[in-house]
Amino acid sequence: MKIKNILSIDVEEWFQVQNLKQTITPQGWSYCEKRLSFNLSEILRLLEEKGVKATFFVLGWIAEHFPEPIKTIQQKGHEIGSHGYSHSLVFTQTEKEFREDVKKSLEIIGKLTDQPVLGYRAPSFSINSGCLWAFEVLSELGIRYDSSIFPIRHPEYGMPSAPRFPYSFKLKNGRELKEFPLSTIRLLGLNLPVAGGAYLRIFPYWYNRWGIKKLNSEGRSAIVYFHPWEIDPDQPREEIGFFKSFRHYTNLDLMKLKIKKLLEEFEFTSFSLSGALDV
Ligand SMILES: [Zn+2]
Repeated sequence: MKIKNILSIDVEEWFQVQNLKQTITPQGWSYCEKRLSFNLSEILRLLEEKGVKATFFVLGWIAEHFPEPIKTIQQKGHEIGSHGYSHSLVFTQTEKEFREDVKKSLEIIGKLTDQPVLGYRAPSFSINSGCLWAFEVLSELGIRYDSSIFPIRHPEYGMPSAPRFPYSFKLKNGRELKEFPLSTIRLLGLNLPVAGGAYLRIFPYWYNRWGIKKLNSEGRSAIVYFHPWEIDPDQPREEIGFFKSFRHYTNLDLMKLKIKKLLEEFEFTSFSLSGALDV
């Protein structure tokens, strides 16, 4: 039997991404062209066509301003998690600020879906060894699992020494929070990111395919993620410098096809339907 991989989508607009923060501040978000509804409907159509359920980590700001597409995600049988409210990096926040940000997102999303939110993903994988208090806060707010740790070296995020596969994080209150790290391949003593976001978009398809096959052959599920703006080559282009442009705009026109191929080649499901939360 084929191993079920986990598919997750971080629901945010193109202008809320870290690479665009210096150009577009949260005060400017209301004035930007909105493209999420269209991109989301494309994703939902593709998932329906392939019979796949996924986890959507929704930004609270999005759920507050665009409730209808979020309700549609739920009606289609997908899981809704939280991506925080304001897309502020966790390691730049105080514990109090983080608590308020996540709490606000949970209240808005909970009101829309009428269901408890079980999962959380930090903006730009911004939980690192300096802010592990975030796990305590998440558990206090009723979150049962997190998928924010990227066990790689990266100039802006990452925790290279963290476990590469799901584990339970022991909390001070005696409880546990499940952590689902983003997928990596171990090669030449390094953890290489695979099958998510810019890595899926920029690196060739064969690399991602090889990575998922390797994980599955080891009996492991890949945790795949992408963003609605990554399938949108027609989004407005901002002057953000060479490196950020490369990361944000490369292969936007190829992403939908890559995701389609992954869905055809591998089995996928959501975190909540995977059974991984039960054990
Ligand atoms: Zn994000």
